Amino acid sequence: MTWLGSPKFPDAARAALADTQLRRNLRNATTTIRGRRAEAVDELPDWEELRRAGEAIKEQVLHHLDTYLEQLEAAVTRRGGTVHWARDAAEANAVVRDLVGDAEEVVKVKSMTTAEIGLNEALAAAGVHAVETDLAELIVQLGDDRPSHILVPAIHRNRAEIREIFRAAGLEAESDDPRVLAEAARAHLRRKFLSCDVAISGANFAVADTGSVVVLESEGNGRMCLTLPRRLITVMGIEKVVPTWQDLEVFLQLLPRSSTAERMNPYTSVWTGVTPGDGPQEFHLVLLDNGRTATLADPEGRQALRCIRCSACLNVCPVYERTGGRSYGSVYPGPIGAIITPQLVDDPRDEQAASLPFASSLCGACFEVCPVRIDIPEVLTHLRAEVVRARGRDAESVAMAAAAWVFASPRRYAAAQKLGSLARFLARDGRLSRLPGPGAAWTSSRDAPVPAREPFREWWRKNRG
Ligand code: SF4
Repeated sequence: MTWLGSPKFPDAARAALADTQLRRNLRNATTTIRGRRAEAVDELPDWEELRRAGEAIKEQVLHHLDTYLEQLEAAVTRRGGTVHWARDAAEANAVVRDLVGDAEEVVKVKSMTTAEIGLNEALAAAGVHAVETDLAELIVQLGDDRPSHILVPAIHRNRAEIREIFRAAGLEAESDDPRVLAEAARAHLRRKFLSCDVAISGANFAVADTGSVVVLESEGNGRMCLTLPRRLITVMGIEKVVPTWQDLEVFLQLLPRSSTAERMNPYTSVWTGVTPGDGPQEFHLVLLDNGRTATLADPEGRQALRCIRCSACLNVCPVYERTGGRSYGSVYPGPIGAIITPQLVDDPRDEQAASLPFASSLCGACFEVCPVRIDIPEVLTHLRAEVVRARGRDAESVAMAAAAWVFASPRRYAAAQKLGSLARFLARDGRLSRLPGPGAAWTSSRDAPVPAREPFREWWRKNRG
């Protein structure tokens, strides 16, 4: 879920901010996607109604999750598939390892859920090489890198960097022209599709009614993965279930416009169990909890489970645009990562995860664009309060208690104002950029306002009193 050894968000963000190339790549990419999304959404007069429908369907599912999951299991089984239940990452990885059998190499279609459980690493430990087939995921894998965006995992890389990565990995690309790079990847992946017997996928949705599983992607590589190998293993978070095809229709409108700014998704693959003589002849669906039922138990935090991973909130986030996804140290970056990761980790001692709810200016842009109306700022403040509660009495809470004591008395308040105005002598160029003592934590990431030469109360007493 979080990358082992990742620093807390403020430390990682500081390093990212110093990388001007990274910031340029991010600004170009997010500005373009943001503009296109806004145009695609503006085309629909009933966009707001669609958002509300998406929210309502997801809420209905979360309220009756047990019922829909059992319905899904029955439907998949009826159509020749096998359902496995996994409480956590270790159980899910063990199930997949067993199902892979004696295969030494498997192909994978882009899946955040398998990244969440560290499946590639678990398979590697068992001697199985998992080949990422989504182009951006392949770039990340060949570069021995980490993804930095939900939809565009290699958003932090430009064409020249990608060519270098390909060259180092032995993929022939004569130039950094996008078509040449894509052709090099295609030739490499085609060999893998034709030689692998086992494929692993995630899932965007699963329809409880019929047991159909749905994957949306843009390149067609996913389609190859889902149809060519003999055995298909899908790992899906339990919150991805939707009741019926009619409900699915709402998300098939919301997701493409919010993520890639397309009216319709280019490759939407749907399969239902096993069809003799057509596609994989063995299908396994691994239903993963991994902290989701604990999240469900939190009335304020549970709305994060409505997420359909469109990434619209990343593209509008001013913090994400400047720091990039890797600063979050989590498989789920940006605003959604800041609320889902700490909840799934569910460990107040994990300082890295606990730093994420603070990775926001609370500007609210994420809520405005979220297709399922997750009130991310509300969840962020809720999680911040939880972090503070778990920490107990620290320097900040002592400072707040002292401030409350000062504010409770007009005399104490007036004396504090006088004392505070002395801080003017620390100002440089009209700014207070470095406060001493406990104030240093405040000025480490922002300037403090310079106090007035004369407190307002004093001025009032002299002039109007
Ligand atoms: S929180 Fe909303 S906007 Fe962000 S990825 Fe999830 S669905 Fe998309």
